[in-house]
Formats: sequence, structure tokens, C-alpha cells
Amino acid sequence: MSLLTLRQVGKRFDNGTEALSGLSFSVDQGDFVSLLGPSGCGKSTALRLIAGLIAPDYGDVVWQTERPETGFVFQEPTLMPWADALTNARLPLDLKHVPRGEGNDRAAAALARMGLSGFESAYPRELSGGMKMRVSIARALASKPKLLLMDEPFAALDEITRAGLNDDLLALAREDGITVIFVTHSVMESAYLSSRVLVMSPRPGRITAEIALTPGPHDRLSQEFAQAQARVAAALLEAA
Ligand code: ADP
Repeated sequence: MSLLTLRQVGKRFDNGTEALSGLSFSVDQGDFVSLLGPSGCGKSTALRLIAGLIAPDYGDVVWQTERPETGFVFQEPTLMPWADALTNARLPLDLKHVPRGEGNDRAAAALARMGLSGFESAYPRELSGGMKMRVSIARALASKPKLLLMDEPFAALDEITRAGLNDDLLALAREDGITVIFVTHSVMESAYLSSRVLVMSPRPGRITAEIALTPGPHDRLSQEFAQAQARVAAALLEAA
């Protein structure tokens, strides 16, 4: 079932930059969709439109019913340095005035979901880059989202940490029935994670190719995965 459809969406910023023009795509319930394109092609702008943080100049962002509970994860973990992991993960619940006891339980469960049981009292300075990103994802999970919008969340992490987080994210999305829209400029990451890769043109961004893939996880050294990456890379080169 289609969750969300963007129809011929355009966005020009006040300084005259045309970020998106004629952007159209649909996302189905349970999809893991990657938006793949070069820096500056409008990927983050598309995510912010979907989140309702900015409005399109023209075109429509249409929800099947209404926007489901949505979590947002950015490239930087953006944790409060003076607060421990539990308090950081609880932030969206505090903002919604969820009672403290319930907030603590939900934040602790989200941290556990991200493999951080026992680190509730740790401060960001005591955590590795990968663990900080896990707290950031736990913070998004604390509000029990049905949709996760992720903006290059693993771009600053080393390869091994990134691969681990890729697998955990896939398991999480599948087990908890979360639809994911994932912004990346990595061919490998998009091919690994996605049920569909949407390739964007350079700015102003629009979709130039849509590639349906076998959803991950994959054997990263297999011939099949090499072929999936080659398909995605070819579409990206063609868009440039
Ligand atoms: P991407 O995520 O693909 O790197 P963005 O969506 O961040 O691209 O940006 C698309 C284009 O819009 C870029 O040229 C960027 O400089 C510009 N842009 C983004 N946000 C703003 C803004 N608030 N005001 C002006 N220009 C912006």
C-alpha cells in the first residue's frame, strides 16, 4: 500500500537556489527507499519536505491517510553533551510531556533495541562515534515511529562500524515494521540497504532512475551484490 506520494514537487529557496524541480516518487508501507545523488542535488531538501519542516513551492506531498509517527536521524548524532544517554534518548518524549517514568522506560527500551543496554548513564564523551549514532537512532525510536527519515546517518563512521549499523538498521526496520527513507551518496550503502534506490539528477533534483533490488542484508562479497552495486552505479553515472 502506498504511504506517500510526491507529485511534481518544486522548491526554490529565498536566495534563488532551485533545489528541486519536478520531483515525483512514491513510497510504499514497509519500503526501504534510498535517495541517492551527488552533494547538493536536493536530497536533504526532499527529506525536510516529507517531514513537513518546509513546504513545496509547487506540486504535492500526499499521504495515504496522514503522516505517521516519524523519526528523524541526521548525519551528526546531535546529542546534548551535558546529558546521559537515557536523557538524550528521552528528549522527544520530554518535549511531548510524556510522564518521566514512562519516558525512562521507553528510552531505555529504545537504547536496548540499539544494543546499548548498560550504557544508559554514559555521557556522549564516553561513547564512540558508532555508539553516539546508536543513541541518536534510539532517540528517534523512543517515539515509536512508523517512518524513519535518515539523512546520511552513517557517513562519518568508519567502514566496519557502518556495516554493523547497516545490518542492525535492516533488522530493526523489518522487525518493527518501520518504513525508511534514507539519504546517502554511497552506491554501496544504497545497494546494501534498499528495496528501491531512487537516483537523483544534479540540482535541481528530480528522479532519473528507480532501481528495485532484493532487500538486504547481503553477502558483501557475493557476485549478486557486486551486480546490484553495478546497476546502481551505472544509473548514477547516467544521471550526472
Ligand atoms: P543534498 O542533501 O543533496 O546535499 P540539499 O538539499 O542540502 O542537497 O541542498 C540542495 C541545494 O539547495 C544546495 O545547493 C544547497 O546549497 C541549497 N540549499 C539548501 N538549503 C537551503 C536554504 N535553507 N537556503 C538556501 N539554499 C539552500
